[in-house]
Amino acid sequence: MLTMDARKLAEDARAIFTAAGATQENAEIVTHSLVDANLTGHDSHGVIRVPFYAQEIRDGRLDPRASPRVTRETGSTAVMDGAATFGQVASRMAADLAIAKAREAGLGSVVAMNCHHTGRIGEWVERIAAAGMIGMSTTAGGGGPYHVAPFGGAKGGLGTNPIAWAMPRARGRPPILLDYATSSVAQGKLQVARAKGEPVPPGTILDAEGRPTTDVEDFFAGGLMLPFAGHKGYALGVVVQLLSVGLSGGEVSGDDQRASCLSVLAIDPNAFRPREEFTDYVETTAQRLKSVPPAPGFSEVLLPGEPEARSRERRSRDGIPLPERTWEAIQTTAREFGVVLSAG
Ligand code: NAD
Repeated sequence: MLTMDARKLAEDARAIFTAAGATQENAEIVTHSLVDANLTGHDSHGVIRVPFYAQEIRDGRLDPRASPRVTRETGSTAVMDGAATFGQVASRMAADLAIAKAREAGLGSVVAMNCHHTGRIGEWVERIAAAGMIGMSTTAGGGGPYHVAPFGGAKGGLGTNPIAWAMPRARGRPPILLDYATSSVAQGKLQVARAKGEPVPPGTILDAEGRPTTDVEDFFAGGLMLPFAGHKGYALGVVVQLLSVGLSGGEVSGDDQRASCLSVLAIDPNAFRPREEFTDYVETTAQRLKSVPPAPGFSEVLLPGEPEARSRERRSRDGIPLPERTWEAIQTTAREFGVVLSAG
């Protein structure tokens, strides 16, 4: 395992994306998102994606120079076309637009179609919480591949369909943050397990014949993921699909990586009661939860979002751990674009 400085890693990723044809602005946004995903501990959505995005650019499936645009709008809603550029660029724009609309109308709801991979969607709700609002986001593919089996099903019917919510806190504290796939594991985490050569926990994946397995290679040989929490995760995955794709009109036939769709909602607490009263209640709730004594086998009760906040603080200071295999793949991509790397 290597340890990389976040700023140097960002410099390198930015240089690769720029060499691959991205505008400065797009390269800056996608790089920030990938490195921040590593900082929060979600390596599955971090720089491990650089070689994949570069390949998508080369294959003409990701347009690194495009700008997403609004195609339909009301005072509190908008529909966007992600323009098949980095999904992080469309997602950031959607979050900012939802915030602006919520400032005016109390609620802002923005959906986007034709996005490429939308990354760690917790970032979009953290952005909304940083503006003092409650944020919600979902993302799903407008077409296949469907790698997640519906509850009780033997074939895939959904993607990993993540959902994120963030609640703002007083005095600049990191928000309460819910951000996870509705599958038992995010697909990127299977890639991380593969890069590390590690097995996955039981109850996570099925092999191509629908048999339970912990060998991550079985998934990549045509296997499936299971929804989390059985029928409960499955039902939530269906809702994510319909919110993201159904509202944005981003459905496509067949498999298409760039057909990701997104929904973002911003709620201004001020429209309901003074914001400070809301954040006071968030603190009361947080303190009640933090004061619960730990159960056997646990050292403390964490708030949703605390793992990410702690990881961000630690990794900003001590560096980002990166498997050799991931770094080698980034080096290979850099060589292909004639980029000399500064980290390592
Ligand atoms: P996960 O299982 O690691 O769960 C993370 C969530 O659980 C966070 O909200 C975290 O704060 C909370 N949490 C973790 N431990 C906790 C504890 N002990 N106490 C309280 N809360 C705790 O998430 P995941 O399903 O592996 O998803 C990882 C990432 O993948 C997410 O950032 C998600 O947005 C991203 N993702 C993106 C896509 C896409 O297409 N863009 C698809 C799937 C997943």
